[in-house]
Amino acid sequence: MTCLKPESTIPGETGAGGGDFNAASAMHPRAPEAIPSDLKNGGRVKSNSVAPEGLYLPNRNILTPQMTSPEYVQLSTAAAITLGIMPGKMHGCECTRCLNILLTYPEGCRANCAYCGLARHREAERDYADRNFIRVDWPAVPMEQIAETVGKDPEASPFHRMCISMITHPKSDKDTVSVLKTWTKYVDPDAIPISILSNPTTMVRDDVQTLRDLGSDIFTVALDAATPELFDRTRGKGVQSPHTWKKYWEILEDARDIFGPQKFGAHIIVGMGETEQEILTLVQRLVDMGGHSHMFCFYPEQGSLMDHLPATPRDQWRRVQLARYLIDYCDVRVDHMKFDSEGRVADFGIPKAELEITIDSGIAFRTSGCPGKFAEDISACDRPYGDSPVSDIASYPFQPEGAHMRRIRSQLDMLRPGETYEDGEEFEELDS
Ligand code: SF4
Repeated sequence: MTCLKPESTIPGETGAGGGDFNAASAMHPRAPEAIPSDLKNGGRVKSNSVAPEGLYLPNRNILTPQMTSPEYVQLSTAAAITLGIMPGKMHGCECTRCLNILLTYPEGCRANCAYCGLARHREAERDYADRNFIRVDWPAVPMEQIAETVGKDPEASPFHRMCISMITHPKSDKDTVSVLKTWTKYVDPDAIPISILSNPTTMVRDDVQTLRDLGSDIFTVALDAATPELFDRTRGKGVQSPHTWKKYWEILEDARDIFGPQKFGAHIIVGMGETEQEILTLVQRLVDMGGHSHMFCFYPEQGSLMDHLPATPRDQWRRVQLARYLIDYCDVRVDHMKFDSEGRVADFGIPKAELEITIDSGIAFRTSGCPGKFAEDISACDRPYGDSPVSDIASYPFQPEGAHMRRIRSQLDMLRPGETYEDGEEFEELDS
């Protein structure tokens, strides 16, 4: 018998640039292709002008209906499976705990972020409602139908939280308010708390206040890039996208003032070219402001401008996951940690015995995000396989145990004496 390790989970795997991390010098987006003028701004969907009829499952073989928020929204595949409106099962989880809602328009998102499947440069290739985003399809549904369904018995709902993701569109501020009002008409925000994943580029401080006044619990800003330079390269001028680091921080600071401690945060993607020291310094800055960081492992989303680049090596990802958890929940500071000449974590800043306990709890390696009803450090937003395939899990949407923990320890280069990596149940066995 021969045991094969999945290629991308081998400890010490190579990232962009040749090290065990993705180096800035090698993480350049490709250039977008020109879009014929008749296909710009949702031209195909608008010229076909097909009226929507209830649920739309992404399907590239039929004409995409002309669906628009606030009447229509898109849902993650996990939320659609949990609601029973789409068939399917998720490895290791019976449901998702977060109802992720995305605004939708024929024109789609008007930004062009290099790592994102929803970006504007895809207009010729795929209609907006058919685009993959964080590795999955997003079916479209009438908003009122979802709110009414969940509102029948919110206390018994599998969802611990609902989140509205704004996109970059001239109508998204107004439509987020309408979607929020539709939801709260049927669902008490105390029964299922609400998060807003904002779009700072079109927002002003009053918009943040309005969303708080209407019952939102947590406000997040998807910084995504960990440094101003990477931000500009991946979602600013570097890819003809409208976002600026300065505007994102302005709205993040408004959220701190309006939503208060522990009720605001930022999304950050690990492995787009920042060093571990840079991203953990940002994590510390957010904690010092009173907020949290929600981490994503870079994955080359098919069709995005970064789909030719490698996913974040698991060594880098696990170090950052663990260090971020220590800063966010264990009162460890980035200045207690030590970094090597490449900015990699060399010492987590706490005694080994304490570090072992934190690793063994496994929570640091679960998906991070806004909390649900289990514990403050367990995210409702579990995004099953949104940043990795099942065969090589980055963010665990379930509690990792057994072989998963041995794999994580191996990736951290922290296997215990006598423990081996090769006994994981995931390895494919071939007759030799
Ligand atoms: S603004 Fe958000 S949805 Fe739009 S392209 Fe950028 S990351 Fe994607």
